[in-house]
Amino acid sequence: MAKANQETENMAVENPLECPFPKRYPSQLVRDDAFFMTLAYNQAIEAWRRDEVPIGAVIEYGGDLIASAHNEVESTRDPTAHAEMLALTQAANALGDWRLTGATLFVTKEPCPMCSGASLMARLSRVVYAIPDVKTGCLGGVTDLNGIGSLNHHFAVTRGVLEADCLELLQTFFRQKRKSFPSTVDESKSIE
Ligand SMILES: [Zn+2]
Repeated sequence: MAKANQETENMAVENPLECPFPKRYPSQLVRDDAFFMTLAYNQAIEAWRRDEVPIGAVIEYGGDLIASAHNEVESTRDPTAHAEMLALTQAANALGDWRLTGATLFVTKEPCPMCSGASLMARLSRVVYAIPDVKTGCLGGVTDLNGIGSLNHHFAVTRGVLEADCLELLQTFFRQKRKSFPSTVDESKSIE
């Protein structure tokens, strides 16, 4: 695993710390919220393996997976490369339409202002997130963009699916980072 990381992360200054959490393989037969959030969780693990803050997102439409992505801000040096943004673009490409009505976004952490806004503009039907974020979350954490009355679109929100697992992953990542590279941890991004 560490070897693969080194191969894909030639821009990383330090060796990424190895992710101690294994990916999960849920049954394909039960496609409930936990199933899709598990796929988002696996994407978060993939982010960690690439030395990115471990946040993952997938999008479901008609019972099918049409997008899966993880945070790529560091490797792309792009502040918009959040898991949700990348997944929304993938989903629009898959459906051939920017309107994602009928689709559900599953993400391991409550979306930030940018991703909450993009989810509204994409006209998603539902957003499911695992960890609430009182620092940057904009679907009820800090504020609720979905509650703006003048917007002509709103979606259903489901909170707390696989919350404990996603929180353990994210907190362990920051704990290990802080121990090894205290000066590199951006506290504003972390979930405490
Ligand atoms: Zn975001």
